[in-house]
Amino acid sequence: MRFGPLIDQLIESLQCLPGVGPKSAQRMTLHLLERDRRGGEALARALDGALARVGRCSLCRNLSEDTLCPLCASERRDRGLLCVVETPADVLAVEQAGGYQGLYFVLLGRLSPLDGIGPAEIGLERLASRVREEGIRELILATNPTVEGEATAYYITEMLRGSGVAVSRIAHGVPLGGELEYVDGGTLQHAFSGRRPL
Ligand SMILES: [Zn+2]
Repeated sequence: MRFGPLIDQLIESLQCLPGVGPKSAQRMTLHLLERDRRGGEALARALDGALARVGRCSLCRNLSEDTLCPLCASERRDRGLLCVVETPADVLAVEQAGGYQGLYFVLLGRLSPLDGIGPAEIGLERLASRVREEGIRELILATNPTVEGEATAYYITEMLRGSGVAVSRIAHGVPLGGELEYVDGGTLQHAFSGRRPL
């Protein structure tokens, strides 16, 4: 204990944030207490409100303040198109990129048997019933190009085989503006296997 229990506790608590170690937590704490008490109050209120009111959307499992998130509630989205992603951050990334007008399904994880994460933990039953009951015509698998992400995409493809829905996987490959000689072998392989006729 260097400053007192309340200050020490604040320094300790801030370290739950990603990328915040003891040094930055200490800097943040002293900044709030020394120079920005108003900012600290606003932060405390925002945190309190968000934790109390933000839950999950009942349709897509994304973070939401209401039963349905704004995307699922929107009249302007294409309801026959469903994009499967791993995290709420992935939804933001696709939305910010623009161009996609369908709905989402957020797995909140990926299959990882060693960590005890199976189909039930990532809501695959709910996904299957959505595809069956909601007239989904195309499912776009946008899980990450990691071993678990690929395995998850493969599992979902097999699960929906014969259900009549068209399943596609987003392409992975050479970044825009990149040069072939600097691209790693795995990415280049993906780019070749995902080639399309022109
Ligand atoms: Zn939703």
